[in-house]
Amino acid sequence: MDETEFIFGVDLDGVVGDFYGAMREIAAEWLDKPVDQLTEDVSYGLEEWGINEFGGYDRLHRFAVSQRALFRNMKPLKDASAILRKLSLCGIRIRIITQRLVLKYSHKTTITQTVEWLDSYDIPYWDLCFMKDKGAVGAHVYIDDAPKNIELLRANRCKCIVFSNSTNRGIHGPRAENWLDVENLVLRAKEEWRTGAPGLFEGDV
Ligand SMILES: [Mg+2]
Repeated sequence: MDETEFIFGVDLDGVVGDFYGAMREIAAEWLDKPVDQLTEDVSYGLEEWGINEFGGYDRLHRFAVSQRALFRNMKPLKDASAILRKLSLCGIRIRIITQRLVLKYSHKTTITQTVEWLDSYDIPYWDLCFMKDKGAVGAHVYIDDAPKNIELLRANRCKCIVFSNSTNRGIHGPRAENWLDVENLVLRAKEEWRTGAPGLFEGDV
């Protein structure tokens, strides 16, 4: 890994972008139900919305991306783009790492929507990685919301901050409840990296 600059590995869905908010609107239309009948208290896979008997998660996800431009239309979460700009100006290298190519046969759509979305919200980044194995990319600290990704990163001795939402309850911290927390934690992690002081991630690495 490049040890001259501090690299922040950033997940998109559920961390920078309001994936669950956008999916809820699209799922309500797809199921033909009022949106308030779909709980916001979801787990990974969205089974609380009763989608399985109507085609399931993969089919809903494909509809969302190919017919409703999910990755172009979702809103960023509060303060995400502004704090990323601030961190970038502090000399932190933003490396976006997303698993979005999980959808087969729609890679061009996925990548195009993603890049347009990042530009349209002025989200800074030097590297854009479409990767399942996020630990293989190399970052000094990661942020993610999916329990599976967080556990895998930690099993590979990578430092990972949990971005809190209803899908990741029960996963231990460090945790960010919002992007102001992200800013504080990442600046602290950078200081620990610079000085070699232990702290935030003791026990994980
Ligand atoms: Mg995510």
